[in-house]
Amino acid sequence: MARKKFIAGNWKMNLNAAGSVALAAGLAKEAASLGAVDLAVCPPFVYIPQVAAALSGSAIGVGAQDMFYENDGAFTGEVSGAMLKDVGCRYVILGHSERRHVIGESDELINRKIVKALADGLDVIFCVGELLAERDGGVTNDVVARQVTIGLSGVSGEQMARVTVAYEPVWAIGTGRTATPQQAQDVHAMTRGLLNTLYGQAVADATRIQYGGSVKASNAAELLNQADVDGALVGGASLKVADFVGIIQGAM
Ligand code: PEP
Repeated sequence: MARKKFIAGNWKMNLNAAGSVALAAGLAKEAASLGAVDLAVCPPFVYIPQVAAALSGSAIGVGAQDMFYENDGAFTGEVSGAMLKDVGCRYVILGHSERRHVIGESDELINRKIVKALADGLDVIFCVGELLAERDGGVTNDVVARQVTIGLSGVSGEQMARVTVAYEPVWAIGTGRTATPQQAQDVHAMTRGLLNTLYGQAVADATRIQYGGSVKASNAAELLNQADVDGALVGGASLKVADFVGIIQGAM
């Protein structure tokens, strides 16, 4: 089944206000020629309104890098899905490996956030992926299957139209070390098989599965040529217009 590729940039905790706006404006200028691919950028929370303004009128969506599962109240430091919608977000990244392994988020917490984000009308980029020790120990598929199964608990087949799964092997994120196209394809195919078991073939066929982990212009095309690789979640190489556009061109 032909799935439109989806490339998203995760700016992580980088840039400042001026740099965020300049990057967004630079991408907005290029966007018209890149329409064959769905595009999003995910700035730090505080720059979302300015980035959304710089991208308005372009086809590039705006996302956040996290959110909390309550609407409002005494949750110091947290941001709700309604707040993200209020400032122009369409997407939210949930379960990113840095949230899992630096901040300590569990599968169950990530699941609560996913369920709430979908209820709030956000589209979710749901990240999964194994640690190096888990890959070396031969349990990659077990880890990813557990993360997917718990993360999507309570998510309906209908809601899956607003979920993108991002397979991001932790050992490949920000390390310059990329999974081989075959390693990516193998985990993507396993994940699609699991989605088939959980939701049936129509949902499994329609769900986009991004690869993430040191994607750059020079390796994007061969990764994105794999049958079950439907896009990329890009960290470091999303911080410069030319680098990000190079990846998008690799997807076209
Ligand atoms: C990411 O932030 O999700 C990511 C994959 O980062 P990088 O592209 O820098 O490895």
